[in-house]
Amino acid sequence: MKRNIQSIRGMNDYLPATTKIWQKIELILKNVISSYGFHEIRTPILEKTILFNRAIGVITDVVEKEMYTFNDRNNESITLRPENTASCVRACIEHGLLRNNNEQRLWYLGQMFRYERPQKCRYRQFYQFGVEVFGLSDFYIEIELILIVSRLWKIFGIDKVLNLELNSIGSLETRIKYRSILIKFFECNKNKLDNESKSRIYSNPLRILDSKNQDIQNLLNDAPKLFNYIDSKSKFHFKDLCNLLDLVGVKYYINQRLIRGLDYYNDTVFEWVTDTFGLKKTICAGGRYDNLIKELGGKKTPAIGFAIGMERLILLIQETNPKFIENFSEIDIYFASFCNKNNKHIAIMISEKIRDSFPSLRLFIDYSCNNLKKQLSQANKQGAKIVLILGENEIQKNQITIKNLYTKIQKTISQEKVILYISKLLY
Ligand code: ATP
Ligand code: MG
Repeated sequence: MKRNIQSIRGMNDYLPATTKIWQKIELILKNVISSYGFHEIRTPILEKTILFNRAIGVITDVVEKEMYTFNDRNNESITLRPENTASCVRACIEHGLLRNNNEQRLWYLGQMFRYERPQKCRYRQFYQFGVEVFGLSDFYIEIELILIVSRLWKIFGIDKVLNLELNSIGSLETRIKYRSILIKFFECNKNKLDNESKSRIYSNPLRILDSKNQDIQNLLNDAPKLFNYIDSKSKFHFKDLCNLLDLVGVKYYINQRLIRGLDYYNDTVFEWVTDTFGLKKTICAGGRYDNLIKELGGKKTPAIGFAIGMERLILLIQETNPKFIENFSEIDIYFASFCNKNNKHIAIMISEKIRDSFPSLRLFIDYSCNNLKKQLSQANKQGAKIVLILGENEIQKNQITIKNLYTKIQKTISQEKVILYISKLLY
């Protein structure tokens, strides 16, 4: 016997029981982001490797260890996108969307690929919903992004299990200065570092601040603090942001160790984290990156964005607010037809007429030969509001029975009146 072929490790299939949850959540994300005047951008899943090397930084976890990189038939190095900010910037520069410092407010939803060790909340293909804003430098847009995400958490009913962590990492110049100070500190404490951190002392010492090793976290209590080195412009920017967050009533925690893994950030960085899965996990992460557009060949343009990990978001809703996704209606009308010769095609014809009149209604025809009781129970299970019944009696008299599953009232009417009757019931 031939062996079954299975999917690639860390890459998931999403079957109908799951995709219906995804669809519901995606719809909310799209509606909310559109209500703030953002527009969708779609970029290819594959990009030239050099794009990510240059944008993310060569000495980062993502580029060092996690990219799916291979040569195409033309021997060009290409990479499955590990994140989408670099691609959005590339596309906007390529198509002149940032000419004359044009402002852009964009969102995307799609697969990202990282070669990580698969585990709960960590996959090799995962989805991100993200937002990128180009051309706005002051903190009002930062507040708006934070408000958008806060609104989403409230809608999903998970605002109580997420904490907003906020930090300012200052300008690029500040980080260069701080970097040398930090290197000196690590040189003096080299014996307390693990091998991974030791290897980063000179290549990317700031990443050591992110270390999950508790001994290193303890050592870091004595390390010089980045916040003490940031210039007054960055400090004021951060203070104004915090004051306005207080004013609009968004709760946040300042986490001075929050650095973010990718090189391109400056000033404001933020993450929404949860303890729900045992370990502290980030659901949404973002920040300002005013240097990236220039770095990728565009004119210097301020930029800010965030990305939500869809799998983590959905898992968090399932674990902390399951009511949100349980029992929601999959269909509006359930058509119970039976196994008579003339029955099914009449059911199809009536259904097509109903769809002509109500294009957004979801109508499901049961083609099984199950008895009415079984079909009614299916209708209830799928959350239908109305059941149409076309039995032998109805067929003979050109009639149809309509049952309202909420009120349990049922009525047999002429088939011609079915549209009128449905519109009375539903609208
Ligand atoms: P982590 O520290 O958990 O590795 P990260 O800093 O690498 O996260 P980002 O690059 O900021 O993650 O991506 C934004 C979000 O995308 C994360 O907060 C998370 O929700 C999600 N995410 C990142 N990597 C994965 C993955 N391998 N599987 C599932 N979701 C992921
Ligand atoms: Mg990561």
